[in-house]
Amino acid sequence: MHVTYSPEGIYLPDVDLWLDPRGSQPAAWLSHAHSDHARGSHGMAIGTPDTLEIYALRAGEAAVAQTRMHPLAYGESTLRHGARLTCLPAAHILGAAQLLVEHADQRLLYTGDIKLRAPLCGAETVVPPCHHLITECTFGLPIFHFLSREEAALRIQSFARQCLAEGDTPAFLGYALGRGQEIAHVLAQAAIPTRVHGAIARYFPWYQRAGYQFGDWQPYTSALSKQDAGSLPRALVAVPSFRGALQASAQRVRVAYVSGWASMDNARARTGAEELIPYSDHADFQELLDLVQRSAASRIDAVHGFTETFARILSQRGHDAHATTVFGERGADEETSD
Ligand SMILES: [Zn+2]
Repeated sequence: MHVTYSPEGIYLPDVDLWLDPRGSQPAAWLSHAHSDHARGSHGMAIGTPDTLEIYALRAGEAAVAQTRMHPLAYGESTLRHGARLTCLPAAHILGAAQLLVEHADQRLLYTGDIKLRAPLCGAETVVPPCHHLITECTFGLPIFHFLSREEAALRIQSFARQCLAEGDTPAFLGYALGRGQEIAHVLAQAAIPTRVHGAIARYFPWYQRAGYQFGDWQPYTSALSKQDAGSLPRALVAVPSFRGALQASAQRVRVAYVSGWASMDNARARTGAEELIPYSDHADFQELLDLVQRSAASRIDAVHGFTETFARILSQRGHDAHATTVFGERGADEETSD
């Protein structure tokens, strides 16, 4: 099956379909609703119902008014130009999906952003056998090793309890779509009340529909002085760009950074966080190797992250692996997609 890579994105000419294109195209598969994957307005957009709804919310209804939405649930297939397109879970953020394209006895799998560890709620990743694998490798270096979701949840809950017991405000930084909701859910599971930044809370209805629970939470409004003496102590869940406001606050705030980047040596200096919790919605290095093995692909294209190094590591292990840089350089979207 032919695949072309260009600054516009990944294109499958046999099927006349773009995969997470950079700009507007006649037909696009949207693997998930992060803005470096779901962008532009398209003639037709194919994705899971959650991805398409959140894409429309983020893009604005007017921007996608001409886009024909083609929802495809996990496990469902549709036919296009003689190919079968099948949607499979990717466990990255809510609605994230892989696309399996079967055409003329060839099977191509595009993972989008993916992890193999089970999500807190929802469907686990299934990796079907394929001939040609197109995968991300955001964390495709051996230095990246992440906590399990159970270990991460315990670290989040115990840091919150410790801070609250000492009269401090625990503040968890995680990106707006995906991580923030997981942190709020994990805190609610431990009956820890929260204040949640609006950039995160706006997606609560979709996550609640999928089974996430947010317990006793309040919207974060303006100053931390809202947390007045005598009121119920709450943990704060905010986006990383909120770091400056926290540091300027007179409150005793202690910051935890929940991210794959938290496993890097310079993370503490760069974020000013007291607690570093290396947990991600992306696969870590070993998961990427497991993904390649499970797929049994004879050709692998790395499209996002440490593409050159990861492809070289795979080549040294005997794979036919290639690097492309369709989605730009590593870390360019670190704040919104880690
Ligand atoms: Zn993503």
